[in-house]
Amino acid sequence: MDLLEFQARDLFESFGVPVLPGLVASTPREAREAYERLGTQVAVVKAQVRVGGRGKAGGVKLARSADEVEQVASEILGLDIKGHVVEQVMLSPGADIAEEYYFSILLDRANGSYLAMCSTEGGMDIEQLAVERPEALVKLPLHPVEGVTAEVAAEIVEKSGFPEGDRAAVGAVLEKLWVAFRNSDATLVEVNPLVKTGSGQVLALDGKVTLDANASFRHPGWDAYEASSGDVDLERQAKELDLNYVKLDGSVGIIGNGAGLVMSTLDVVAGAGKDLPGSPRPANFLDIGGGASSTVMANGLRIIMSDPQVKSVFVNVFGGITACNDVAHGIVTALEVLGDEAKLPIVVRLDGNAVEVGKAILEEANHPLITVESTMDGAASAAAKLASERN
Ligand code: GDP
Ligand code: MN
Repeated sequence: MDLLEFQARDLFESFGVPVLPGLVASTPREAREAYERLGTQVAVVKAQVRVGGRGKAGGVKLARSADEVEQVASEILGLDIKGHVVEQVMLSPGADIAEEYYFSILLDRANGSYLAMCSTEGGMDIEQLAVERPEALVKLPLHPVEGVTAEVAAEIVEKSGFPEGDRAAVGAVLEKLWVAFRNSDATLVEVNPLVKTGSGQVLALDGKVTLDANASFRHPGWDAYEASSGDVDLERQAKELDLNYVKLDGSVGIIGNGAGLVMSTLDVVAGAGKDLPGSPRPANFLDIGGGASSTVMANGLRIIMSDPQVKSVFVNVFGGITACNDVAHGIVTALEVLGDEAKLPIVVRLDGNAVEVGKAILEEANHPLITVESTMDGAASAAAKLASERN
């Protein structure tokens, strides 16, 4: 679950990480009021979207009067930054930046540990820095319990090449960022830039935070984040319907029964799409479990079809306790329930208990959206091909 910058700012503040004040506005008028409340002369108006590179895209601008704030806010609000439309801006006092640094802590899945990354060359695109001048980006695996202790912080700032006079101040902020990371069950805390101001203060000027949604049960405050999040919206709706759904990035919607079958379906679809134009990939994980009733099927199809990235759907069911005839009934009834809401082609592969009856039901229904395939590979290819053509 990704936080917006102002949410990251609030989180940092609650852990004593030095940040500037930040006020959120959804209209130019509110931006003006926020500016007046800040009481500073120079303010920075920042787009609140879950994507980096806002600065380059015109989403971060300085303003020097109430009129200018209103003007700048009206330019930024509604702006499309890499497919994310700006609905809110954050206003902060303009910082007097002397140096820009980079610092992050993340869950390094490949190494099964936490990793700290630090550079005295922040501000710019860190991916670019990592490629062009890898020696300028210090990486240090962290002990999962100890994390960034005073000693580790000292090691990081020394290896990164901070001037001796700045090490203590920067190190103290790194320790606080670790506490924020650990105590909020984050998988990523990234500060770019971490700055030193003209008066020598170290501040987190931009924050990117990803929280581990599996820990939401012990953070009642996260409801507010979930309510405001875009992508995760679909996952929240699915959760309310008791569906085992995980949103992925591709264009082939997947419904299957049993986690193992769904996992292998994802692999087979990815394989089938690999060499097609646009390389279609799975759009989601959805396990409808044993009870593939028409309600469950309708709910599943509705969630998948309301994902704007989805171009085709693959229903892959192995009939067991729930026989294929029930599943076939479920699909047909689900399409009746959905009516005009159902617009995407659906490839169905049924096997197992009562497969012939199931197929006969689908054949008889003769629904224009449904294609029946008899093998998993054949169905995966057909679904991937449909997604590729409709791209
Ligand atoms: P990002 O582009 O999405 O990462 O947005 P940032 O919040 O990191 O802002 C991009 C850049 O704008 C920073 O690296 C700074 O150089 C600049 N910037 C942000 N806030 C201020 C500010 O208060 N004053 C000044 N002078 N520059 C700022
Ligand atoms: Mn940034």
